[in-house]
Amino acid sequence: MSDKPMSKSRRDAVKVMLGTAAAIPVINMVGLGTAHAQPDNAVTMDDPTAQALKYHPDAAASERVSAARPGLPPEEQHCANCNFLLADVGEGDYQGCQLFPGKLINVNGWCASWTLKAG
Ligand code: SF4
Repeated sequence: MSDKPMSKSRRDAVKVMLGTAAAIPVINMVGLGTAHAQPDNAVTMDDPTAQALKYHPDAAASERVSAARPGLPPEEQHCANCNFLLADVGEGDYQGCQLFPGKLINVNGWCASWTLKAG
C-alpha cells in the first residue's frame, strides 16, 4: 500500500463500503423476518374458537400445564404432535387443524383439545 494520504473521495468510498458491510446483517435479519411472516388466515387469539379452546400460537405460553391433556407430559404437548393437525394443509410453521377449518394454526401452539397423534 502507498504511504500517500488517502484522498477525500477515496476516504468517502471506503466509508460507504464499510457502512454497506455493516448494513448487510441488518438487511438479512429484516429479510428473515419477512420470510416467516404469519399468513393472513392464521388463527389469531381473538378468534372465538381460539378463545373457547384456549388456543395459543406458542404452546409454552399457553395453559397446557394447568389444562394438560392425557397422553404426554404437558411440556411435550403442541400442535405438531396433535391428532387434529392437517399436515397436508399449509406449510412451514403454519398448518391446518380439523378444528379450525379454512385457517392455519402454528405448529408450535397448543389448545385444550390437544389429543396425542395416533400411531
Ligand atoms: S386441536 Fe390440536 S392441532 Fe388443533 S389447535 Fe388444538 S392442539 Fe393445535
